[in-house]
Amino acid sequence: MNYKYETDPFDREHLWHPYTSATNPLPTYKVKKAEGCIITLDDGTELIEGMSSWWCAVHGYNHPVLNKAIEEQIHKMSHVMFGGLTHEPAIELGKLLLDIVPPSMQKIFYADSGSVAVEVALKMAVQYQFAKGCPQKNNFVTIRSGYHGDTWNAMSVCDPVTGMHSLFGTALPVRYFAPSPQCRYGEEWNSEDILPLKKIVEEHHGELAGLILEPVVQGAGGMRFYNPQYLREAAQLCKEYGLLLIFDEIATGFGRTGKLFAWEHAGVEPDIMCIGKALTGGYMTFSAVLTTDEVASCISDNYPNAFMHGPTFMGNPLACAVAKASVQLLLSSGWKQKVDNIEKQLKEELQPAWKLPQVADVRVLGAIGVIETREPVDMAWMQKRFVEEGVWVRPFGKLVYIMPPFIMSAEQLHKLTSALIKIVSEMKMEK
Ligand code: PMP
Repeated sequence: MNYKYETDPFDREHLWHPYTSATNPLPTYKVKKAEGCIITLDDGTELIEGMSSWWCAVHGYNHPVLNKAIEEQIHKMSHVMFGGLTHEPAIELGKLLLDIVPPSMQKIFYADSGSVAVEVALKMAVQYQFAKGCPQKNNFVTIRSGYHGDTWNAMSVCDPVTGMHSLFGTALPVRYFAPSPQCRYGEEWNSEDILPLKKIVEEHHGELAGLILEPVVQGAGGMRFYNPQYLREAAQLCKEYGLLLIFDEIATGFGRTGKLFAWEHAGVEPDIMCIGKALTGGYMTFSAVLTTDEVASCISDNYPNAFMHGPTFMGNPLACAVAKASVQLLLSSGWKQKVDNIEKQLKEELQPAWKLPQVADVRVLGAIGVIETREPVDMAWMQKRFVEEGVWVRPFGKLVYIMPPFIMSAEQLHKLTSALIKIVSEMKMEK
C-alpha cells in the first residue's frame, strides 16, 4: 500500500508534539478512532497498534468495560477535591491496589502522571530523611540508561546523555550515577556488577536520601533488561546505609514484564513505589506513589506532621473509577497466559532479526520485544514505512521495539513482527 499522508495544516503550524521541532516537525498521522488493537487513521487506513500508546493501553482501545466505568462515574461526579473529601472510587481502587502490590506498601498517594509520581516519590524520600533528623541526606543515586519522566527532578535522575543533562546544565540538580547493570536478565550473575553502585553508596551515603531505579526493565532510557540479583544487592546496600529504595514501576507495572509488577522477579520490596501508565488501561493520566507504614509514620509523626504535596486533581474520581475497572479487568482476564503467549511468539518471530546486518541485539521479556540496530534509525522514513505496512511502531534512536496490548491476537502480532523484520532489513547502513 502506498499511503500518502498529509499532516493536518493546523496541527503542523500550531501544535507542538513530543520530542520534535515546532517549525519543522516530524509528520503526524491523524487518528479517527481506535478500537481493540486497531488505530484507524483519518483516511481509513488501519494500523495494528504495537506501542499500547507508550505502555498504557493493555486492554486495547474503546473497551466496553472501561467505557462503562467512566460513563457511570461521570453521572455521579467527574471531580471533587481530595483535600478534606474522599469518595468510593478512591477507596475501592486503594483496596484493589493493596492486594497486588508488595505487602509492605500500605499507604497510597494518588498523583497526576508518571513524572509527578516520581517527583512525589523523591520528595517523600527527602522529607523522610528530614523527619529522621538527617536533612543533609537529600540527594539521590540512580543507574545510567534510566528514564523517569520529563519534569525537573524526574529528569535529573534520567540517563544524563539521553536525558540531555548537558542542555539544562547547572539548572538541573546533580545526582550520582552508577553505570547501568551489565548482567542481562537470564544470564548468570556477576558479582562485580554491583561494585560501582556500592562504591558510590559507601562514599556518599551521608548525602543520599535514596536510590531510584526501574526494576529489571529500563524503558525509554534504553529498553534494557537486567539481572534481578542487582536489585537484591542494591536493596541490601540501601538497608545498610540508610537509603530509601524507590522502584519506578510506571512502565513495568500491570503485567508487562510477565510478572504483575517487576519487583516480583527479584522478590525485593521497595520503600517507595511509583505506578502509572497502564493503571487506567490508558484511558486517563493518573498515577500513584505507594510506601510503607514506616516511611509514612516517620513523615507524619514529625514536623510539619504532613507530607507537603497536594495536587488539584489528586484522587480524581473519573481516573480512580476507570483504574479500578482496568485493574479488575486485568486480574480477571487471564493476563498471565496472554503475556506468556506474546512472549513466546515474540521470541520465535523476532529470532530471524539476528541474521540482519543492521541488527546489534534482539531481546524479549514478557510482552516487550526489542530490536536494537547498529545505527540510529531515520524516524520519519521508518515511521512512514510502518504505516505503509499497516502497523503502528514508534522507534527511537537505535531501538525498534513493541509492547502490544495484551489482547492482541496471534495473527495481529505476526503482522507486527513481520513488519518489524521487513523494515529493519530495508534500513540503509552508513558503514
Ligand atoms: N517513569 C517511567 C519508567 C516511564 O516510562 C515514564 C513514561 N515513559 C515516566 C516515568 C513518566 O511518566 P509520564 O509520561 O506519565 O509523566
